[in-house]
Formats: sequence, C-alpha cells, structure tokens
Amino acid sequence: MLKPMNPMNPLKPLNPMHVPMFNPRNYPVSCRQMLLGLAGLPWTLSLMRMSRRRARGTLLVLCYHRITESVSAGGFCDDHYFITLPKRVFSSQIRWLTRHYRVVGLDEVLSGRPLPPKAALITFDDGFRDVAETAFPVLSSFGLPATVFLIGSVIREKRIPWITRLHWLLDHARERNADAGCVDILGDEARSGNNRRDGIPGVLASLKPLLKRRDIHEIDERLACLEERLGIEAPHNLLGQRFMDQEQIARLAGHGWTVGNHTDHHLNLASLGDGRVCEEIAHAGDTLAAMPGYRPVLALPFGLAGSFTSATVDIARRCGMRLVLTSLGSPNRFPGQGILLDRVICETFSGLYFRFLASGGRKAVKSMLDKTMPSNSRRTT
Ligand SMILES: [Zn+2]
Repeated sequence: MLKPMNPMNPLKPLNPMHVPMFNPRNYPVSCRQMLLGLAGLPWTLSLMRMSRRRARGTLLVLCYHRITESVSAGGFCDDHYFITLPKRVFSSQIRWLTRHYRVVGLDEVLSGRPLPPKAALITFDDGFRDVAETAFPVLSSFGLPATVFLIGSVIREKRIPWITRLHWLLDHARERNADAGCVDILGDEARSGNNRRDGIPGVLASLKPLLKRRDIHEIDERLACLEERLGIEAPHNLLGQRFMDQEQIARLAGHGWTVGNHTDHHLNLASLGDGRVCEEIAHAGDTLAAMPGYRPVLALPFGLAGSFTSATVDIARRCGMRLVLTSLGSPNRFPGQGILLDRVICETFSGLYFRFLASGGRKAVKSMLDKTMPSNSRRTT
C-alpha cells in the first residue's frame, strides 16, 4: 500500500497547507523518534505548565474539520490529507479542555464583555456531515456550543467544494491503479516544482498547491480535464454524503451553535485580486445571512501563512466581518488588537501534543528560539 509520506523526511508532510502531525496513520514511529520524544518529555511538561499559567486573559480557539466514528472512515486522500480525528480522540481532547478552560460561544466573544480568565472557543471548518452526526453528540454531552464555518456555494448551489472533488478523483484514480502521468493535469508546471514525487500521492502533493494559486473557473477547467482523462466524475450525491444539509445546520443552531463565513469557493485568498477577495467574502455572507445562527465572522480558507495578507484582513473588515480567524496555531491575548484571531488546528492523536498546542507551547518554543537564536543563524544550520 502506498503511503503518502515524504521519502526524504518522514516527519515532513507532503501537503504544506495542512500539517498532519502525530497522526499514526501518516508516520512510522521509529525508535529514534520515540527516544527523542521521551528525552524531551520533562522539558515539554514544564513548558506546558508555564504556558498554562500564562494562559489567563487568553482566548484559545480550536479548529477541527472532520470527526469520524472510526479511524478507518474516509478515503485515502481524506485520511491522509485532510484533518480527520476519530471520535475517541476528539472526546478525550474535549474532556481535557473542559478541565482546564471555560468553553465559550462565539456570541460571548463578540459581545465585547470580558471573557473568563481561560476561555476557549470550539470551531469546525467546511461543514462536514460528521460534525452534526458525530461531534455534536459529544459536545452536547458536555453541554458545549461550537461554531461551524460554511462555504457559500455549497449551501447556495449545492456545489461540491473543489478540494473534495479533487480528493474523490484521486481516491478513485488510486483504486483503479491509474498511471500518475494520466492524472498529471498541470503538466510541465507541476513537473518543475520542487516537491514533485511519484504516484498518486505525488500528484496530489504537487497539484493541490498549484490549484490553490488559481481562481475557481480555472480550477473547474482542470478538474473537468482530470475527470475526462480518468473517465469518472464525482457523483452528485457526494455533497450529501460529506456535507451537512440545511436541516442539520438548523438543528445545531437550535442548540446554541453559530455559523460563520468560510468564503464562497474555498480559494486561497492571497492568490486573488482585491475585487475577487471581496466577492468571495460578500457572496458567501449574502448566502449565509439567511441561515439560523449566522454571525459575520470569517475563517480564512487554509488559514496558514501564504493564504492571506494584511490587505485580505482589511477587505474582510470592509465586508462587515467582525473577526477573521487564521489557522496559525496559537492562543490569543483577548481582547487583543484588531480583528485577527489565531486558531490551533487540532490534528493530533497524541494527547500530550494536543495539550502542548493548546497551552501555547508552539508559540513559546518559537519565541524562545527567536530570543536565543536569531532566525538567520537558525536557517544556516
Ligand atoms: Zn476549509
């Protein structure tokens, strides 16, 4: 079975936009890694304790995508390139969260009133069906609300998001043992990329970043070309299988959940002109304003460095967004300055690593490295 790992460095994921760390399905655990992890454990624990003490006056925003009943649910691409957690892991993360933080709803964050000393907000991106079917019962058992960021065109046009369509096609290409060359729809441009790798995982790894630089009509053209070459087409019921319907969204809203804006087509906003960024946010806002529980808050698609600029945030503000959420991975000082809030992507099976992330460990390590070792000298080593 092909594994989508980087042969040069198994710790480095193929997809730079979604960083699947510590997911046992993605990485072999070598003895060396395990020993290194154990050696760093006391240091990690003390850093987490220190970070948690400092967490008073902060807002931790967690970002989830899919929560599945079992580890094996989902296809090849979804398993490895999408952020999927089994219910068991999700439940234990939420249990830990309730012991150390006060989970608040989006309305409390937007109210302008002071938040509890250690506040946390739970969010889900894209509106996957298993959020309503699997995550909702878990959160309900703890009496917790959450916010779901929806894609405008999924709701308005029943359009399958392009990433889901791409994943489905490559899943099926792999099932059919299709030659990777036959699905290489970007040709020389993809071949000249530094991250070119073999097989379907390689195609996905090189194709997705290239498609992220394009607007929706160009992506549609490429995907139609891929469908033609493979002789298959993503089925219309894929949307219903993967994404929440309006009834489910209304049910969540009835239980105190809120809905936010995840743009109209889930494009990389940094690759679009200002006018198109505005359209992506405003069109989704117009569609979602009719949904129960909608709040004008934007979760940036992809959300990592390179997927937005300061101009993107300005445009979002002008489009009426009250908050703009990234996926940069740190708790926030709250109230902070401006409308930008970071989120921690919860893509880890490791309880310890989840606590490390939630405690702001990543930021603490980064600032410690910045102080002790200037970034220039780190780059050269
Ligand atoms: Zn998304």
